[in-house]
Amino acid sequence: MQAMPIPNPLKRPRCEQCLRPVSYCLCEHITVVPSRTRVLILQHPDEQRHALNTGRLAVLGLKQAELLVGERFAQLGSLLAAEARVFLLFPGEQAQTPQPLAPGPEDAAPLLIVLDGTWRKARKILHENPVLNSLPRLALEAGQPSTYRIRQTGEFAAVSTIEAIVRTLTALEPGQDFSPVLVPFDVLIEQQIQAMGADVYRHNYKTDETKRPESGAIPNSGLLER
Ligand SMILES: [Zn+2]
Repeated sequence: MQAMPIPNPLKRPRCEQCLRPVSYCLCEHITVVPSRTRVLILQHPDEQRHALNTGRLAVLGLKQAELLVGERFAQLGSLLAAEARVFLLFPGEQAQTPQPLAPGPEDAAPLLIVLDGTWRKARKILHENPVLNSLPRLALEAGQPSTYRIRQTGEFAAVSTIEAIVRTLTALEPGQDFSPVLVPFDVLIEQQIQAMGADVYRHNYKTDETKRPESGAIPNSGLLER
């Protein structure tokens, strides 16, 4: 009798759009939402391979969003020079809470730069790209709980990238409903909880919300290889 081949999670066929294993494809839950603000996500390479790559889901759900992967972005200087209005979504002493945009011509639409990675990796991107330090910053108020139940960073305001973007856009553009952007994210979280089993979830994450999961604690994490 021949041994059954052991399935290798990295070999599972993937959806080319959302990069999830085909059986967990999130695309049917994606709605593309328009915005005045354009979003540029600078994603740390480590984040790209994480199953909970919410930056990618944000780009798929927003009409005016783009994602670049790296640590140092050589093109940033010229890219920013061409912009009339840019904000960096990152905490800091001078950071402002996002306020509704004044009505204005389309070309005054701001560019919102979002760093996607753990806090440590996001700071690394900031360090490697000093041009970002000159930008006015926006920061979300602490205290809004995250629905991001399985990947707590242990640092303050641990919201996922996609939640941070949706909250910021909602504050900038209160007339637009950005909640559809979060739908595939909610489905993703449900998938991960089911995959790890309700018991494991309760044991690891319900009792201590700030506990950081071990990297191996999420079965089916389905590393996002390129
Ligand atoms: Zn898909």
